[in-house]
Amino acid sequence: MDKPKYYLTTPIYYVNARPHLGHTYTTIVADTIARYKRMRGYDVVLLTGTDEHGQKIERAAKAAGVKEEEFVDRIAEEYRQLWKELDLSIDRFVRTTEPRQERAVHRLLLQAKDNGYIYKGFYEGQYCVFDEMYVDEPLPGGFCPECERPTERIREENYYFKLSEFQDRLLQLYESQPDFIQPETRRNEVMAFVRGGLRDLSVSRTSIKWGIPWPGDEKHVIYVWYDALTTYMTGVGYGDDELQWEKFWPADLHLIGKEILRFHAVYWPAFLMAAEEPLPKRIYAHGWWLFADEKMSKSRGNMQYPQPIARTLGIDALRYFVLREMVFGQDGNFSRDSLLTRYNADLANGLGNLASRIIAMIHQYFAGRIPAPLADNAGAPRSVALAKKSADVQQEAIAHYEALQFSLALESIWSLVAATDQFLTESRPWVLAKDESKKPELSDILNAAAQTLRHIAALAFPVMPHACEKIWLALGNKSKLEFEQIDTLAWGALPAGSHIGESQAIFPRVDKNEASERIEAMEEEIRNPGSAAASSPASAPSAAPAPAVAAPAPAADAKIAIEDFAKVQMRVGVVKTAERIQGADKILKLTVDIGDEVRQIVAGLAVSYQPEELVGKKVVVVVNLAPRKLRGVESNGMIVAASVGPEGKPVLCTFAEDVPAGAKLK
Ligand SMILES: [Zn+2]
Repeated sequence: MDKPKYYLTTPIYYVNARPHLGHTYTTIVADTIARYKRMRGYDVVLLTGTDEHGQKIERAAKAAGVKEEEFVDRIAEEYRQLWKELDLSIDRFVRTTEPRQERAVHRLLLQAKDNGYIYKGFYEGQYCVFDEMYVDEPLPGGFCPECERPTERIREENYYFKLSEFQDRLLQLYESQPDFIQPETRRNEVMAFVRGGLRDLSVSRTSIKWGIPWPGDEKHVIYVWYDALTTYMTGVGYGDDELQWEKFWPADLHLIGKEILRFHAVYWPAFLMAAEEPLPKRIYAHGWWLFADEKMSKSRGNMQYPQPIARTLGIDALRYFVLREMVFGQDGNFSRDSLLTRYNADLANGLGNLASRIIAMIHQYFAGRIPAPLADNAGAPRSVALAKKSADVQQEAIAHYEALQFSLALESIWSLVAATDQFLTESRPWVLAKDESKKPELSDILNAAAQTLRHIAALAFPVMPHACEKIWLALGNKSKLEFEQIDTLAWGALPAGSHIGESQAIFPRVDKNEASERIEAMEEEIRNPGSAAASSPASAPSAAPAPAVAAPAPAADAKIAIEDFAKVQMRVGVVKTAERIQGADKILKLTVDIGDEVRQIVAGLAVSYQPEELVGKKVVVVVNLAPRKLRGVESNGMIVAASVGPEGKPVLCTFAEDVPAGAKLK
């Protein structure tokens, strides 16, 4: 028999920024649901992707001095790499710049057009570049009400989508399917918005080139949201693979952040209704991660990245923390302190310690074989109670997973961890072990502990797949945990007499200060690769890697300690050769004598200097910058220059008196 299907999506992430903790959170949630659904017997497809068109990308690529294609390739690759590093079970990754996407978008659009929902008109008014959105009612001073950035005046010929005709149908949808938008508060917001009346939506742009061309009218490109939303269809074969499409569409769940709710809960169902395609079943908008009560944003410079946490504490610790700490649907506060506190308390001292104690005692008292339970359990009421608790927690956890209440599911599972701890404390196996006549009782107790640990591993698997698999194998299970069914999981299924594996530390305890410093240092390296100086325009503005563009500028007034300054080693260098790099008009390839060696350095000096006028010049070189490639050319160091005027024109820093190459600056 065919398995039932479950198709879920993350948002199609916009590649104007590198992936941070916010994107990672949504994707971890999606992965957790996918793993849970697989353990319920579903044929799951999890789709994610990258949204790569639009004016913001056009501008960001220009600022980075690269072609749009190159810019989006780079960031899309970062997303892929990150999901790989975090071992997320992504089934489909769609980029909006793929040819199959253009075919799907054209198809959806033409269906709507054939049904009479698209017409040509003029738009004149304010436009927010950041939100890629016309602003009908700007704030005083012309600022965007969404992001509070300045808007721009534009007038353009547009194609319009008759959104105004969908007000009643949308309201009817929200009424008849109360769980179409979740959580409830978000549903209420959307309903209020739609009740307020809908205006037709411009779905093409002539001011932008970087996008999918309008079919039959190529001076227009298609509105980025029309494009991005269609990705959910592209990834399951829309207009391309009928079998797949029939099986997986409509999506069972679109997971999104609350800031993009309107696009998903109003525009998207209207686009689909216009094309007479089935609607997704549910849209769930989660909250934001806050840092000291502020939203994470580039401009505030409080972006958090997942890699430092995963590399310091492990992937599962990152997953556990974000799912336990944030009540799904609400905003959550992120703090490194609570991350490390939870890690030590819940994982190292909690589950990790429980697992290694149980495994170690079975090795010690029963030569590494699962001990037998008492025949009738009559002598071990505690074991019976623990079995009962396990079954209760199983039901609770399943109910919470179904409701996407991960923090409650984990709370429930951790109540079983605590109960098992208490069970061991009260049963005192180490005392029983001293009395040969108590052997059957000891056997029963450790059997119950092992059965419960197996249960816990299976129940927590959707959240912590790697750690739970380790526990599962340590208990001597031969099958893979991911193939277990969470609802039919039976307590007591570990056969007595079977061999268990070795005990291993799954979550080694960490020193909070040390771990915190390590995470902080890695975060800083991601925010400002190399050093703070590396983001100065002199380090080759035209070829700065995309992450540097997306990263916030270091706060100008932040003070550093003398030791921080001492980390930057600078020396006098003499330029030996200088030449242009093909295809790059702002950077030059130099060789520079820094006293004891000659370095190849790529520098963004071409705007101000001809290569020949640089030869023989004495310059300041940052010599301990990690090597990196700019336009494929390796650069070993950085030349210091002033950045002048709004364009950041480089002016070399040099010396009034004669100095030898290699002299240190301090
Ligand atoms: Zn805006």
